[in-house]
Amino acid sequence: MSTPTTVPAMAAAVARGETTAVALTQAALARIDSAASLNAFLHVDRDGALGAAAEVDAKRSRGEALGRLAGVPIAVKDNLAMRGLPLTCASRILEGYVPPYDAHVVERLRAEGAVLVGKTNMDEFAMGSSNENSAYGPVKNPWDTSRAPGGSSGGSAACVAARLVPASLGSDTGGSVRQPASFCGITALKPTYGRVSRYGLVAFASSLDQVGPFGATVEDTAALFDVIAGHDPRDATSSTEARVETRDHLLDGVAGLRVGVLRAALDDLRDDEVRASTLAAIDALRAAGAQIVDVELPHLSSAVSVYYLIATAEASSNLARFDGMRYGVRKTASSLVGTMEATRTAGFGREVKRRILLGTYALSAGYYDAFYLKAQKVRTLICRDYAAAFARCDVVLTPTAPTPAFALGEKTSDPLEMYLADVFTLPPSLAGLPAIATPSGLSRAGLPIGVQLTAPAFTEARLVAAAAALEAHVGVLAPR
Ligand code: GLN
Repeated sequence: MSTPTTVPAMAAAVARGETTAVALTQAALARIDSAASLNAFLHVDRDGALGAAAEVDAKRSRGEALGRLAGVPIAVKDNLAMRGLPLTCASRILEGYVPPYDAHVVERLRAEGAVLVGKTNMDEFAMGSSNENSAYGPVKNPWDTSRAPGGSSGGSAACVAARLVPASLGSDTGGSVRQPASFCGITALKPTYGRVSRYGLVAFASSLDQVGPFGATVEDTAALFDVIAGHDPRDATSSTEARVETRDHLLDGVAGLRVGVLRAALDDLRDDEVRASTLAAIDALRAAGAQIVDVELPHLSSAVSVYYLIATAEASSNLARFDGMRYGVRKTASSLVGTMEATRTAGFGREVKRRILLGTYALSAGYYDAFYLKAQKVRTLICRDYAAAFARCDVVLTPTAPTPAFALGEKTSDPLEMYLADVFTLPPSLAGLPAIATPSGLSRAGLPIGVQLTAPAFTEARLVAAAAALEAHVGVLAPR
């Protein structure tokens, strides 16, 4: 019998007694050890994982019902709280902080028997597109270790791409699960705003933040999404919209699905291989029965400016709480303000400081109307663009990122170049819409390329169905 590799196959094998949760966990921990040079993990919770696995096995031996994720090793981004484990957000300022509670999504995973193996590396406070803003060093892309895994959830993407675990959790404010999924050749889903509770997720930009799953396959991604989605009264933005089991839609196919394509954006792409791969994905969906229609999002080109005003404004406010009084490190000076200043000067990295400055500026008297308010108005126009597009199509297809994984160091000296990596992932975030990123193929150099599908609010099942249809054509990618 072959070793189970997908989330449902692992859980089923444990339930049938063909393997044990402890055996699956030991194997995952051994893989994590042997891939330590990727720097994907900030903290590996060996004891916690083996303890949780032993509990699953004990439950089975007592004949008790097992959860949907029984014995499945899963990694969690280090901006999600896990009781008793360090939570750093890859920032020096949170050194030594250990949350006394679990995030909602962590509770949900545990309730289904998942074995949480550790916390993954990320860009500091989830600000970045390459994982190079981590205070603990960049993550390496398992396809080519001289390249970036994408960001900000780089560790969660890399550990799945390298098959250390079949699935993981990240967070996505403007593309942080989708762009790294694209760079690492795996699937990730950014849920509808409000679909997944952020209780226990460290806030970056609260009108945008969502927790999202990564999976080696579309099925793995759906398996995690189905467990974490749903109402939670502890998050005021959590939706009461009824849950849909997306895994029931994996085989729906795309017959009759109207796929909207942005021709102008495709023509503007500078990377010929990304364009060719996107066109190949469109052809594959057409061959599978989809109807391809041309749509436009006239304000697409404003998304980068709008996002980097709104997200930085919200971040400047959210990060005010890290003042050396409540969490993590404190650099003591002779006055209260001096202590706060010294703590924030030493604790935050360059990109986080840049964003706090940009956001504070955009919110300051005299500039508020010119920048922040105007950005909010253009955000509304982007929402309307989607509403108009969805009158003509069921999903909008774009590349996920304008290029395959770039080299580590390639964009670190130019923040604007880095921000442009998000052109396609930002618009769905600004509109609060669900979007899935899934591979479309490989470049000539053997690097993954991916497409993003965006759909109306709360239609994640449609995205899962379409991505699964594409996966059936492209195949599941894995680095050698
Ligand atoms: N790359 C974007 C940024 O730097 C998105 C980050 C995210 O989604 N957390 O803000």
